[in-house]
Amino acid sequence: MKDLSSTAPTVAFRLLATSDLHAHLLAWDYYADRPSETVGLARVAALIAAARAEVGNSLYVDNGDLIEGNPLADHQAGGQGAPVHPMIAALNALGCDAATLGNHEFSHGMGFLRRALADVRYPVVSANMLTRKGATPRDDDTLLPRYVILDRMVADQTGALHPLRVGIFGLTPPQVLDWDGARIDEPLAARDMVEAAAHAIACLRSEGADLVMALAHTGLGGAQAVRGAENAGVLLAALPGLDALVLGHAHQVFPSPDFAGCGGVDLDRGTLHGVPTVMPGTHGSHLGVIDLTLVREGGGWRVQRGGAEARPIAACDAKGQARALVEDDPGLLALAAPAHRAVRDWMAQPIGQTAVPLHSFFALVDDAPMQRLIAGAQTRHLRAAVAGTQWSDLPILSAVAPFKTGGRGGPRNFTHVPAGPLLMRHVSDLYIFPNTFTAIILTGAEVEDWLERAVSAYARLMPGRPDQALLDPAFPGFGIEMIAGVSYAVDLAAPARYDLQGNLVDPGARRIRDLCFAGRAIDPEARFALATNCYRVGVMRARQATPPQVIATGAETMRDILLHQIAAQQVLPAAPPPGWRLQPLPGTSVVIETGPEAAGYMDDIARFRPQNLGPTERGFLCFRLNL
Ligand code: MN
Ligand code: MG
Repeated sequence: MKDLSSTAPTVAFRLLATSDLHAHLLAWDYYADRPSETVGLARVAALIAAARAEVGNSLYVDNGDLIEGNPLADHQAGGQGAPVHPMIAALNALGCDAATLGNHEFSHGMGFLRRALADVRYPVVSANMLTRKGATPRDDDTLLPRYVILDRMVADQTGALHPLRVGIFGLTPPQVLDWDGARIDEPLAARDMVEAAAHAIACLRSEGADLVMALAHTGLGGAQAVRGAENAGVLLAALPGLDALVLGHAHQVFPSPDFAGCGGVDLDRGTLHGVPTVMPGTHGSHLGVIDLTLVREGGGWRVQRGGAEARPIAACDAKGQARALVEDDPGLLALAAPAHRAVRDWMAQPIGQTAVPLHSFFALVDDAPMQRLIAGAQTRHLRAAVAGTQWSDLPILSAVAPFKTGGRGGPRNFTHVPAGPLLMRHVSDLYIFPNTFTAIILTGAEVEDWLERAVSAYARLMPGRPDQALLDPAFPGFGIEMIAGVSYAVDLAAPARYDLQGNLVDPGARRIRDLCFAGRAIDPEARFALATNCYRVGVMRARQATPPQVIATGAETMRDILLHQIAAQQVLPAAPPPGWRLQPLPGTSVVIETGPEAAGYMDDIARFRPQNLGPTERGFLCFRLNL
């Protein structure tokens, strides 16, 4: 008979992780005022309880983008919310063990972030967000503690308890300083995530951590080392000394078939370069579960094996309808009830009327009235802002992106406002981000360049071929901006001029055709005032040697500006004629994935002779469009 006393102690240890919850506390869509089976920490909480019950030893961590991203977050940021941010209260109630900052933690400003952090009952760590950058990582002054070592007692296979020291550090994409530069009103700096991680791992090992885990608010990215990379997961996994890696930010699911064939990925085990790795989707779609088997060896612990899985809260049925796999956690339901009621009341406030439906179902193939409304509000705001200044004679242009275009956000991720009464939730649906207004000066040549960057997100089409994909899958659809005030066509038979990082990849490539201002070819030297938002200007500032000249800015959110526009008009009229179109490509068709309710608006795209191809597995509705 085997002598158990001589067997080395073995511990099953589990790390549970959420990421990119974006204030999705309940399984509810506040824009449409209806339940949503694919979101909500209340459902994830049920998975957490189940996963905790399966093993004796576990930690629960959150990987950031927690307090921004939906009407509940906006309500809290507006100062009308609960004394403690409901998402912080929820993580406290769930017994969260540690967390890090996502880039969107900064989106409502430093004051809001500091008030939220004052209420956490768990450590929040960040190794690369700094108050002062030193010559090397060890010389940095960090905004928060770089890492934490959690001293836990864990049970082995016989039930005997052992001390275990778990080191956890955090990382945020350094780009947040540009993206949210307008809201970060303190002198912050950031360090490359891989550099900061290498230092944090070394510190944790020297301080006697038995396990080292990264809360990395970053996607997988590529294997090629790029300093300051936004998505650095693959590079982090290659660092020695890391036992587990929690990723996020990219709103993807890892492990999942989406990553089949990617280098260094083992989908059966859930590892990246051998490191157990998880990315738990978005808005509470999944719970990340990392399992490690630890063996006591020579006075320390060795990770004998490890792996990861992402457990979903819902699955699609045969008709592409999302079905819940778990029920709400009753504790979180009770905790969320007052905030839920207050946000729904706020969202139900009447604001005005619209004569036309406003939706984003076809915003990537057609100049949508929804975008023209937002562009008009920005134009009106800028005209008032420059009145009486040296800029008042500049022609005004206005740049808008559709934001909700399906994609990783799923078939419900479209703006949909029917004609009729406009409620607050509709206005939120039209502009989901807490961006503030900013206006800059551009030349005619820069206007063309702006548009070329935007339309680089489309796939290149082969003329004469049927059923092609419309988008380059590497690009998020929300980046496809249109500019109102000029007219142009988009030629998708031409190659893209820019790549996802904004690098010029084909200097000969032009997709923008017939760019006209006031009915004549645009003068490349002419100057224009462009109304846009703080995020876009931050991205430009990071990219360009000479920053753009800002002529108007302010603390008002774009949603406030939209509210003023609606209040001034009472009934929103039909929008002005389209300013852009896809260049016709006879004999060529594309297949687009849009929301199921798009079927009610096929007249909008009649010129493409749309054919309804039915639902996809994920619940999108497919159309064939003839270009
Ligand atoms: Mn996010
Ligand atoms: Mg993020």
